[in-house]
Amino acid sequence: MMTTGWRRRGLAILAATLLLSTVALLPAGAQYYPPGPPGDGVVISDDGLVLPVREIRDDGYVVTTTCWNEATVTGGTYISHVEVVIDPGHGGSEYGAVGSNGLTEKALNLDVSELLIEELRERGFNAIMTRTTDVRIPIVVRAEIARALKPDVFISLHHNGGATARSELPGTETYHQIEGANSKRLAGILFEELQGAFSQYDVAWRKTVFQGASSVLRVEVQDDLYGILQYTPGIATVITEAAYLSTPAEARLLADPEVQRVEAVAIADGIERYLTTSDPGSGFNPMFSTSRKLSAGGPGGCRDPELGDLGVDEPGFDDVPDGTHRQDIDALRDKGILDGTECGPDLFCPRQPIKRWMMAVWLVRALDGADPDPVTESRFVDAGADRWWTPYVERLAELGVTQGCKTAPARFCPYGVVTRGEMATFLTRAFDLGTGRPSGFTDTAGSVHADAINAVAEVGITRGCMIFPARYCPSAPTTKGQMATLLERALRPAPSASS
Ligand SMILES: [Zn+2]
Repeated sequence: MMTTGWRRRGLAILAATLLLSTVALLPAGAQYYPPGPPGDGVVISDDGLVLPVREIRDDGYVVTTTCWNEATVTGGTYISHVEVVIDPGHGGSEYGAVGSNGLTEKALNLDVSELLIEELRERGFNAIMTRTTDVRIPIVVRAEIARALKPDVFISLHHNGGATARSELPGTETYHQIEGANSKRLAGILFEELQGAFSQYDVAWRKTVFQGASSVLRVEVQDDLYGILQYTPGIATVITEAAYLSTPAEARLLADPEVQRVEAVAIADGIERYLTTSDPGSGFNPMFSTSRKLSAGGPGGCRDPELGDLGVDEPGFDDVPDGTHRQDIDALRDKGILDGTECGPDLFCPRQPIKRWMMAVWLVRALDGADPDPVTESRFVDAGADRWWTPYVERLAELGVTQGCKTAPARFCPYGVVTRGEMATFLTRAFDLGTGRPSGFTDTAGSVHADAINAVAEVGITRGCMIFPARYCPSAPTTKGQMATLLERALRPAPSASS
């Protein structure tokens, strides 16, 4: 991630001050990230600039510009939350490492990030990048984008410079926050996935003492050396350095689009494992310590690109075809129920199964007509107070609609998929539908959700998955499009049995 020069000069110092201690040295509550509001979503311009929102006003958005100035803008596409933010390192005048084949790190980081975003959206994740073009963005702004979106995962994607020793295995490095169990676990998992994926290639690998998953303490401030980690407290942030661009053999490998795709899939696999399992990760090094000062990642010398006209956000999603679910999705979107559960700017991913956390967000907004109050803790061990959707999950439990997916300890399984049978039960509890007369579906006998399926059928919320023979498909996943239709029907004032 750093320039090769820094690695060469800095390595000796870092190695000499290697601190064999994993004890957190941070005073409680210490924060060194630049002052500024936590942010409230982002606005994306037609040109793909991602502008963190400081304040939403009637006459527009007060945003942080690419070079950390303030501007008030109208237009653009507003996004309140995402699951994953990918930060392609460097850009513009900051080239990062450069391979002997001329491949620049800034271009490679962007190419792999684009493949990764594509992969994540195919898997139904709501994901965006901090930059989509060759533009310089100071670290402080990248971090502000993350703080404004409060993602479950924030990855700063780099490729390394300055390796020293030969290695049997790829010299993959990941960096995590000193304080932050989530960041550390994510770094361990991403290290496993990346080194595992690159190990299939027969290359004269290089490494440094940082091979593995590491944190680096900057002694002077008693905080993370890297600004992107330091400025994003409470967010699971990791820097990835899959391989060494400065090693000729690795540069040749990294220039191959197929290898770039392999890297993107490895990171997507790691993100999915982090979110859906409790795998601990591996490859952890003892904490490194240095008195070296890096650039603070500020905006010095940065020149803002022309903001111009941000474009008008056309209502409606680009990936929802006319037909079955379109009207229902648009109706829920107009009510603000879908905010933060898109899968990208103007993208909805209607065919993706709905995750339990998303269902909680939609149901609570539908039932309460408002967002819930913030919470400081959760009854479910897998719904962290740092996740933006946790208040919705808590509220859903408070309303008696969910008891979670497991007990002792109580879990919510936020990334689990909701089956159609389960959805019937959730809707029955949410809208107090009781039990209905036998629905006539031929595939619900014996299902624990049979009564609920009868209930939602009786009031016209569902017509099943197949008409002849009449079937409900209780064990099939509920897609986002299907839930939109079920919820919109449930919200209609007087559901008719004949609809
Ligand atoms: Zn870099």
